[in-house]
Amino acid sequence: MADKYDVIVIGAGPAGYHAAIRCAQLGLKTACIDKSLGEDGKPAYGGTCLNWGCIPSKALLDASHKLVEARDKFADLGIKVGRVAADVPKMMEHKAAVVKQLTSGVAGLFKANGVEDLPGTGKLLANRKVEYTPHEGDSRTLEAESVILAPGSVPVEIDAAPMDGQYILDSTGALEMEKAPKTVGVIGAGVIGLELGSVWSRLGSEVVMLEALDDFLPQVDRRLAQDALRTFRKQGLDIRLGTRVTGTEVKNRKVEVSYKDKEGDQTLKVDRLIVAVGRRPFTDGLLSADCGVNLDERGFIYVNDLCVTDAPGVYAVGDVVRGPMLAHKGMEEGLMVAERITGRKPVVNYDAVPSVIYTHPEIAWVGRSEDELKRSGDACQVGSFPFAASGRALAAADAEGSVKVVTDPETDRILGMQIFGPQASELIAQAVIGMEFSASAEDFGLTMFAHPTLSEAVHEAALAVHGHAIHVASRKRNKKK
Ligand code: FAD
Ligand code: AMP
Repeated sequence: MADKYDVIVIGAGPAGYHAAIRCAQLGLKTACIDKSLGEDGKPAYGGTCLNWGCIPSKALLDASHKLVEARDKFADLGIKVGRVAADVPKMMEHKAAVVKQLTSGVAGLFKANGVEDLPGTGKLLANRKVEYTPHEGDSRTLEAESVILAPGSVPVEIDAAPMDGQYILDSTGALEMEKAPKTVGVIGAGVIGLELGSVWSRLGSEVVMLEALDDFLPQVDRRLAQDALRTFRKQGLDIRLGTRVTGTEVKNRKVEVSYKDKEGDQTLKVDRLIVAVGRRPFTDGLLSADCGVNLDERGFIYVNDLCVTDAPGVYAVGDVVRGPMLAHKGMEEGLMVAERITGRKPVVNYDAVPSVIYTHPEIAWVGRSEDELKRSGDACQVGSFPFAASGRALAAADAEGSVKVVTDPETDRILGMQIFGPQASELIAQAVIGMEFSASAEDFGLTMFAHPTLSEAVHEAALAVHGHAIHVASRKRNKKK
């Protein structure tokens, strides 16, 4: 007789563990299968996000940012420090401790909520049966009323730069180097490439970034992307746009990278090469031929807006399905599916998914940008406000960048917000909440913001939509009907 559950979740990344915990909270007998192991060889729940993604990258980004502040900024603020130097092994220790604390935390949450954790591999069979293979021991068949697939994603590999784990690294390897190489190449100046490039540049490496596209961060508002590009280049990142990597060779402990730009064939020699060209959905060994789940043409599990697959009672959430590959998008999908299984009717608002790049300053955006609206022929109004006019940002000597608010000229509703500036990752939540409640620029304008805060820049940008920002000279007056 197969073990029976109400719900089996495969994958304990952010999408899967949120789904499993909410199912258990709602009274369902729930099991969660996950194959990830930590450095100590023990189960490490939390998926890419906690083990090799969001959290370890932020541990290194925060530590390396503090180093730069202490080295280059403190003196201007009247703080004298002695010689400031990076202790990379200590940073890695800190990172590993945070990862351990959080992955064990997920195991604790499973226990507290009554989720049965099953370390090992899961495979979906027909009729909501699941083959479970523990790390040691024999496989057995489990059965459930509902199955939630949350197997996540893995780095994309390209033929031009096959990963060898020593000189040519993926994002996981790039988070584990024990010292800063003299020179680092990064293929791909996207979100992950910029974060990893920033870490190693701050820790002392000369970083060259090779990006195939001519446009920098095409998904970001053009003006803000140009400001960010200028800033990152000033910080020392040698970002080369329009450069397609065509081959690599490891010779004499260096990686020789061949690439093409508009002048022709070029080469670059680096000590380490990080390949950050994107991620792909991971479904290896997950689906039996007769399980009824289909993939789309790009290899993502095919689902509708409610994360329902083609197999009755089987759902899929997170990086393995369409939409941005972001932890919080997967978490919300996981929660939605859990609630829907128990008859509630939430939906995920895919129009209000915030995105963040954790460089310094940070870049964050949600909804539609001015360029996007113009491209699609839709009218919009825009208000922006520079951090250079924010008292709090100036007091903190961190006043680069600006906030841009985009609204519908008919209804004044906020359609999007883009921020390049300090704590953009925190500030963007205000736009997300506003959009969830269909707020207008006027609503933001009439709301009181504590002074002095960076949030006031959001307030002023909303006021600027109608030419009413106080702390900048504006030529727009009384535009509102
Ligand atoms: P995953 O987190 O990939 O988890 C899937 C889990 O399922 C894994 O543990 C895997 O081992 C397991 N699994 C797969 N198949 C099976 C199977 N058959 N049986 C058992 N277990 C299985 N996102 C953000 O939102 N913010 C960030 O700042 C951010 N930073 C990132 C930085 C880096 C360097 C990287 C690589 C990613 C980052 N991401 C970030 C992306 C984020 O990590 C992913 O979007 C998120 O982890 C996806 O969650 P998931 O639950 O879908 O899958
Ligand atoms: P992201 O998807 O945000 O992680 O970004 C990955 C980036 O890698 C994209 O901007 C791609 O254009 C870039 N890219 C992909 N393949 C190559 C290549 N062979 N050479 C240079 N850049 C690449």
